Amino acid sequence: MDQNKIVLIGAGLSGPLMGIYLSQHGFNVDIYEKRSDMRLNDISAGRSINLALSIRGIRALKEIGIYSEIKTLIMPMNGRMIHDLSGETSLQPYGQKTNEVIYSISRAELNKQLMSKAEETGKIRIFFDHDLIEADLNNKFLLFNNQNKISFNTVIGCDGSSSVLRDEIISNTSAKYLKKPLGHGYKELTIPSFSNKFKIDPRALHIWPRGNFMLIALPNMDKSFTCTLFMPLKGETSFETIKNNNEVTNLFKTYFPDVLELIPTLHFDFLNNPTGELASIYLNPWHFDDRALLIGDAAHAIVPFFGQGMNASFQDCTVLNKLINTEKYDWGRIFSRFSKEHVKNGHAIADMAIENYEEMRDSVNKIKFKAQRKLEFALEKQFPNKFIPRYSMVSFSEKPYSEVYNKGEKQYKLLNKLLEIDPSGSSIDKNIVNKFIK
Ligand SMILES: Cc1cc2nc3c(=O)[nH]c(=O)nc-3n(C[C@H](O)[C@H](O)[C@H](O)COP(=O)(O)OP(=O)(O)OC[C@H]3O[C@@H](n4cnc5c(N)ncnc54)[C@H](O)[C@@H]3O)c2cc1C
Repeated sequence: MDQNKIVLIGAGLSGPLMGIYLSQHGFNVDIYEKRSDMRLNDISAGRSINLALSIRGIRALKEIGIYSEIKTLIMPMNGRMIHDLSGETSLQPYGQKTNEVIYSISRAELNKQLMSKAEETGKIRIFFDHDLIEADLNNKFLLFNNQNKISFNTVIGCDGSSSVLRDEIISNTSAKYLKKPLGHGYKELTIPSFSNKFKIDPRALHIWPRGNFMLIALPNMDKSFTCTLFMPLKGETSFETIKNNNEVTNLFKTYFPDVLELIPTLHFDFLNNPTGELASIYLNPWHFDDRALLIGDAAHAIVPFFGQGMNASFQDCTVLNKLINTEKYDWGRIFSRFSKEHVKNGHAIADMAIENYEEMRDSVNKIKFKAQRKLEFALEKQFPNKFIPRYSMVSFSEKPYSEVYNKGEKQYKLLNKLLEIDPSGSSIDKNIVNKFIK
């Protein structure tokens, strides 16, 4: 067996990226992917999704040397464009500095680039149509659906939210595992371009917040928008109850009247595109001994409402790469330190992502939320580096998520105190803030 070989499971977003980091250390990397090569086949409709890329993801893309190419695929979004029921829109900026924007990118294009760049290293091979069905972690064998059986020294599971390697780690250890279903699902829809122009403003992430559910739209390079409808799976207004053309029309007429005319294929797409389910995964630890580790969604699948799943997965690769450098290829120490130091960050972003769903679908258009955002920006201006809004710490800094979570909790206490004194968020009692900062 090649002692210099590392096996990765999954050629999604984090697999090829981690592969490139490993190849830069001189390792040969074999990646096994259950799907066929998406560069040769069209990806299935309703699963093309674009993603919000921010600083943590950008850091990793820069470190592996492919950001200059990826930059040509991204579109800046400088805030949330809120659409109310009457069709009125208002922009809520993400941050106060000009570089505080997030970027829309096509998942498929990014994935294709990562796979090609990985193969170009000459040290990485991707084996498609290899669905891992069993991992014998004690005897170091992996078995695939095509009966291919391979041995390994070190395996990293980048096999996403339904990870098979995760199941094997759980059954071989006393790892603590919790899958928390959200009870809400999602469906992808498309606003096409019109005369080669965007139908709505491309410089924002659009949200139609409707209390218990919401629609969002992110721009694409071809001047279309990918929309995602997030809604309960069951209940009065839910995916369960909207089953035919009339019900789709009623839903959109009642809650998204301005969107009806933007999506000519609404009914067909709604009834034919799959409904995805959402859940958060909490696991501790993320490794087995010195031989198996999980990264990305396999370790910490989260709901998509902070736009951080991919960014967190890419940050895993950055953190793991640092540990490889400091621990000099001692996989036992690298893996145990990765779990010990980083699991709490996975749990923190999982929690913050759930909280952000309520913010996006409900609070975002409420007076109290608007006052709070106003106050957050004012505090950040008056107390630079001491007060940074939680959204900015998540999206525009690389601080560990657990630190962001804890700092955010303290800041919310301060915000609530100040809002009790002035609910409009227009004035700041400096004594209270100074006391808090001390
Ligand atoms: C609706 C939605 C919107 C999102 N929006 C954002 C966003 O705006 N920003 C953001 O940062 N993140 C977002 N995410 C999250 C992001 O998509 C994931 O966090 C990211 O894809 C995780 O990367 P990964 O490599 O861990 O897993 P994946 O990208 O899912 O890759 C896993 C790979 O493993 C393969 N695989 C699975 N099982 C096996 C097996 N048994 N054998 C071999 N191969 C296998 C799969 O085919 C796949 O190619 C969103 C997710 C969803 C669902």
